[in-house]
Amino acid sequence: MSDVISAPVQARVPVRGGGTFPVRRIYCVGRNFADHAREMGATAPASKADRGNPTFFAKPADAIVIDGADVPYPTGTSDLHHEVELVVALGTDAPAGVLPLEATDALIYGYGIGLDLTRRDLQAAAKKAGLPWDTAKGFDHSAPISELVPAAQVTDLMALGVTLTVNGTQRQHAPLTDMIWDVPDILHELSKLYALKAGDLVFMGTPSGVAALQAGDTFVGSLDGVVDVRGTITG
Ligand code: MN
Repeated sequence: MSDVISAPVQARVPVRGGGTFPVRRIYCVGRNFADHAREMGATAPASKADRGNPTFFAKPADAIVIDGADVPYPTGTSDLHHEVELVVALGTDAPAGVLPLEATDALIYGYGIGLDLTRRDLQAAAKKAGLPWDTAKGFDHSAPISELVPAAQVTDLMALGVTLTVNGTQRQHAPLTDMIWDVPDILHELSKLYALKAGDLVFMGTPSGVAALQAGDTFVGSLDGVVDVRGTITG
C-alpha cells in the first residue's frame, strides 16, 4: 500500500562529529528547579523526600529549530518566554517495564542544550482554568536545540551548568546539581508512563530567570563549556 499523501518530513538534529539524530518524541519536565518553581508561584519541595511526582508535558517532534536558525515570534501570544534546559537524547529503546535508576545511562545517546519556548500568557490562563498546557508549550518552532554531543564526549555531566544570554546579557544560569530530579530520576519516572524509545528527547526543566523575548532578540543557550544553541527571534 502506498501513502496517499506525501510523508511528513522527519525532524532531525545534527550530531557533533557528523550524522543526524531523528526525533521521535519530545518530553519536557516542569518545575525541576526549586527557584523556578517559586518564581512561577508554585511551592518548591523542601527536600528530595518531599518532591512528589515530576510534572511532564510534550512538544511535537517538528517543534525543533536547528542551531542558528531564526525563530518566528509565535502567533496567539504577546508574552513569549525563554526557558533554557539540558536536553537528553535517547539512542536505545528501553526494555519493557519500569526502568531501574541504574539502567538509565545505557539508553542515553547524548546531550544538548535547548529552549522550551513558552506562551506564558496562555500557560497562565490554562493554569488558572485547570486546563491543559498544550497551546502554551507545544507550538511550532517552540524547541530550539543545539547539535547533540555524544555522551562519551561529556565528562561529568552533573558538574556542568546551563546558561542563557539574550542580546549579550545573562538571563538564566544554574548548576545542574540544582535539579530536583536528575537524569536517572526523570528517565525512571517517565518509564512508568511511556515506553521510552530511541529518538526521544527529554527537556530537563529550567532554572529561574525566565523572561520575555521580543522580535529582534538574539539568544545563546549553553550547556557550559560543551555546546551552545543560537538563534534570533524574528517578527
Ligand atoms: Mn520548561
